[in-house]
Amino acid sequence: MKRNPTQLFLWLLVFLSDVVPFSNEKSLRERAIELMQDTRVIDGHNDFVLRLRMFYQNRLSKVNLRELNRTHTNLKKLQAGYVGAQFWSVYVLCSAQNKDAVRLTLEQIDVVKRMCNSYKELELVTTSQGILDSRKIACLIGVEGGHSIDSSLATLRMYYDLGVRYLTLTHSCNTPWSESSSKGMHSFYPNVAGLTAFGQEVVKEMNRLGMLIDLSHTSHSTAKAALRISKAPVIFSHSSAFAVCNHARNVPDDILQQLKRNKGIIMVTFNADVLACGRKVVNVSTLADHFDHIKKIAGPESIGIGSDYDGVEHSSIYLLRSDTFGFPEGLEDVSKYPSLIGELLRRGWNETELKGVLRENFLRVFREVEKVRDSGLMDVGEREIPQEEVQNSCRLDLNNYRLQTVASFGFPSVVQSFSLTLVIITYVILYYES
Ligand SMILES: [Zn+2]
Repeated sequence: MKRNPTQLFLWLLVFLSDVVPFSNEKSLRERAIELMQDTRVIDGHNDFVLRLRMFYQNRLSKVNLRELNRTHTNLKKLQAGYVGAQFWSVYVLCSAQNKDAVRLTLEQIDVVKRMCNSYKELELVTTSQGILDSRKIACLIGVEGGHSIDSSLATLRMYYDLGVRYLTLTHSCNTPWSESSSKGMHSFYPNVAGLTAFGQEVVKEMNRLGMLIDLSHTSHSTAKAALRISKAPVIFSHSSAFAVCNHARNVPDDILQQLKRNKGIIMVTFNADVLACGRKVVNVSTLADHFDHIKKIAGPESIGIGSDYDGVEHSSIYLLRSDTFGFPEGLEDVSKYPSLIGELLRRGWNETELKGVLRENFLRVFREVEKVRDSGLMDVGEREIPQEEVQNSCRLDLNNYRLQTVASFGFPSVVQSFSLTLVIITYVILYYES
């Protein structure tokens, strides 16, 4: 059959319309990777070290982190995902509150340090300059949950000395001084609302130390209070937009606007529960919807990435789906960040905005936090939390040490003085009778 030139032209158009989207997709991925080679990801939250405890009891000699496949994270995948810096979450379960949360936290800090010192691909850093200078995957430490400081500013300071650079004010439980977004999940301190006076001291001490204040997992009133008090920009290390999915862990628009004024950032989580509120199809587009919304409300300079890989809670229905394991399709592990950047390019995000998302926005916040520290304007926090606010019988009150020493004889002091009087009277009677 013969075709005239017009028919041939139309046929060519149809053919191209099929081919162009495909080559366009490919070029988006290529553009994403080109961008990420120069601007590697800083990720605000990864719970891999909790998996090290659960699966290997922190025995690094029992596992090869380059090729480990039981987790979302291994070193080869981090390299494939163009990760330049990772905040390793030092997280201990809320059930350790008022028990051995501090010991467990120290053990998790220890395992991060051992991991990052024993693999040549990794390097521990504690400053914004350290991230810039590193040619490896820079390791940073974040403590996830205020219960880890056991209501003690001194413990907070010692964590800073050990290299911890953020504290999440709560996990899924209230502490004696801060309210969690999932306060119904545990029975701790049900009457705490927002930040107490001691909680405000914690925020001020973090400003003084140069520790980032992380508001993921906190209640909206805790977040608002911290944003009001903090002299430095704050972060949400792994949260998303409440207007897109009304999960209690997500950030509503009024707080996003407050965050913009504070010049802080929200590092958007990839956790399917928090992104999709139970919807069946969860993919890279679901995640990008959160990015688009936050950009509209708070601007592109307020956004970062906080995947939460290896951190999805056991209650998640997505755990039952072995294909996604709690994360959107196309974002199954730490090698998949280029898919997100490709999708944002497709939605019209420009390269400056994406460099901000990948690392520049976080670096700006970290530098500002260090600047507030270096201003040296604040006094060391010496406040102690009142015993009655903690209500923990395991807590020894050394401020009343003398009383406790007397009590340790096994008699109340009134009984002891009565016995002493009796001895003296007996002695006097015996003396006069003799
Ligand atoms: Zn978390």
